[in-house]
Amino acid sequence: MLDAGRTQGLLKARGRQRTDSTHVLAAVREPNRLELLGETLRAALNALAAMAPAWLRSVALPVWYERYSRRIEDFRLPKTPAERAALADEIGDDGFRLLAALDGPESPPGVATMPAVEVLRTVWRCHFEKTPDPADPSGNGRARLRPVSGRGGEDRLESPYDTDARYCSKSGMEWTGYMVHLSETCDDDAPRLIVHADTTAANVHEAMRTEPIHVALAAKGIAPALHLVDSAYVSAAHLVTAREVFAIDLVGPPRKNLSWQQRQGGGFRAADFRIDWEASRAICPRDKQSQSWRDYRDRSGSPYVKVRFNPADCRACEARAQCTRATGVKWGRNLRLRPRDEHEALAVARARKETDSEQPLYALRQGVEGTLSQAVRSFGLRRARYKGIAKAHLQHVAVAAALNLDRIAAWLRGRPLAPTRRSRFAALAA
Ligand code: SF4
Repeated sequence: MLDAGRTQGLLKARGRQRTDSTHVLAAVREPNRLELLGETLRAALNALAAMAPAWLRSVALPVWYERYSRRIEDFRLPKTPAERAALADEIGDDGFRLLAALDGPESPPGVATMPAVEVLRTVWRCHFEKTPDPADPSGNGRARLRPVSGRGGEDRLESPYDTDARYCSKSGMEWTGYMVHLSETCDDDAPRLIVHADTTAANVHEAMRTEPIHVALAAKGIAPALHLVDSAYVSAAHLVTAREVFAIDLVGPPRKNLSWQQRQGGGFRAADFRIDWEASRAICPRDKQSQSWRDYRDRSGSPYVKVRFNPADCRACEARAQCTRATGVKWGRNLRLRPRDEHEALAVARARKETDSEQPLYALRQGVEGTLSQAVRSFGLRRARYKGIAKAHLQHVAVAAALNLDRIAAWLRGRPLAPTRRSRFAALAA
């Protein structure tokens, strides 16, 4: 469809595009912890019953038929925390017993590495630990639930039936599933077409997708000259990479400066220091020169520069309270600077955000929220129809194609864009 759009002159490279994302609910029930454990073991037993029924009959305890024949939520689960913990421990013991049998010499070929068994191993590793049990002659120990330590984490599975879905908590909202990022054109002289749908697990931050989206757009031959995004997609490194690798002008409000100097108002922020990159020195708002300039790398390997001012200058400075809270005789003001190209790109982006002539661009970016709303309300984007990220992505591409058909039809018929709706009450505002 994009190729056809290009041939017909409805889509061009090097134009303007905008991107935003929304959450997608997985096509599975969100079980509580006890239900997750029971259902994970039940799913493994069902898979093994199909692959190796005779072997499973030889290792299954009689109580397993009672405990795992029906979906766990169909049982009346115990109410008190102690009873629930005891049941969880029993399920844990059952799982460890099954895994030990699967890894034993009598296990049929291939069953120990079945996907449902791998899920069982992963969930058990995450939720259980083994404690020694003197009463157990086998010496295998007993399963004990690990203490709850928040939710999330890259490997933490939320359901045995969709192992790609992840939990996320953001802006007061919690969900299990995915994120989808839609990129669309926003030139005045062409229909607004979705040019890319990017699907990730829910716990992948927007900042991780800026570069992959640019790679995908470049591979399609429709990378924009100007890309409008919100602050979650913008970092100093993204600004530089977009410009230097993809020739894309990435426009979005940089993330807020959270330093106390910024928050207090009137404090001396890093941006208030003049940086002489050639001479490797900084000059502070009171015209003192830095004492040292050293290159470092952080834990992720990213370079940065640490600049120190002379403690004697800072101790004697009448503006010290606006600049540093360092105490003692040793320390003056320190600055941590990004590499030069990133530092300058961020300064330009911050200045741009305050420029009146740039404000229409920020307003134009917000239009993509209407596209997400249309995709959710008219095309069912909010809920995954299928399990697994590959099929969820296929659904998102299909939604993008459907949106494009609707928009091309509207463009060819001369149907104008609908104005943003306002409630009757909101319209009363002056
Ligand atoms: S505290 Fe030090 S770095 Fe800050 S303005 Fe004063 S002399 Fe300059």
